[in-house]
Amino acid sequence: MEMKPIPTLIVGGGTVGLSASLFLSHHHIPSLLVELHPRPSSHPRARGLNARSMELYREIGLEKVIYANETALVKSGGLRGETLVATLAHHSSQARQAFYDRLEGKGTFAHLSPVTGSRCTQDALEPILLAAARERGGDVRFNTQLLSFTQKRDGIIATIQDRSTSVQQVISADSLLMEQRAQYVPHSTFRPTDMAHWAIFSTSSLKQISPTSSRIVSSASV
Ligand SMILES: Cc1cc2nc3c(=O)[nH]c(=O)nc-3n(C[C@H](O)[C@H](O)[C@H](O)COP(=O)(O)OP(=O)(O)OC[C@H]3O[C@@H](n4cnc5c(N)ncnc54)[C@H](O)[C@@H]3O)c2cc1C
Repeated sequence: MEMKPIPTLIVGGGTVGLSASLFLSHHHIPSLLVELHPRPSSHPRARGLNARSMELYREIGLEKVIYANETALVKSGGLRGETLVATLAHHSSQARQAFYDRLEGKGTFAHLSPVTGSRCTQDALEPILLAAARERGGDVRFNTQLLSFTQKRDGIIATIQDRSTSVQQVISADSLLMEQRAQYVPHSTFRPTDMAHWAIFSTSSLKQISPTSSRIVSSASV
């Protein structure tokens, strides 16, 4: 099998992988991204980007298109606490607003950055990143899976597979960017430390607790 050399192999076409492709292209570093699913996820998941993330996207000229794609969830909000009952009972709308102002670079934080955060949800963001990554020369292959890799002194040898044709390809890469390390590296010490519970609902009574939020309540516990 012919071996194709590339500088960087990115495994995973989520927000992080697609952003890595974009920022590498921005610095004229070629990369190959493989994502096993045929298309980005349609689940909203992350409901926004903080101001620092928007500064980085501004650097590569994407902030306007991201703001333009903020979706209906823009009116949603989050509440944080150990249990949902305690969170709803004790959370003040001022504390919540201060938390989001800090996150989004608004209110008293507005002078710190030329941008604010964005409520562009992950399902809207990833297609933007995917289109931009391809447009800027990143080799981005969905429906393509990393099957295995071997670490060498000066890089890695990886086997990838096009899932629509089952054709496999062996590539050598100087570096590997991968989120799913635990899946491949034995004896990983990775352990989840935080658990989040999500409930999505609309209710008029929520407005009494959190006037600016009518759609989402989240309760996180460690
Ligand atoms: C219900 C839910 C709600 C969330 N809400 C928030 C939120 O409000 N705010 C927030 O900041 N974050 C939130 N998150 C977390 C956020 O979604 C993740 O942090 C984010 O998706 C991480 O991006 P990523 O690119 O690192 O990983 P992922 O999005 O998980 O992408 C990794 C990709 O790698 C691919 N892959 C795996 N193995 C292989 C392989 N062998 N070959 C090729 N591809 C492979 C997977 O298919 C996947 O698409 C939420 C997550 C969930 C599930």
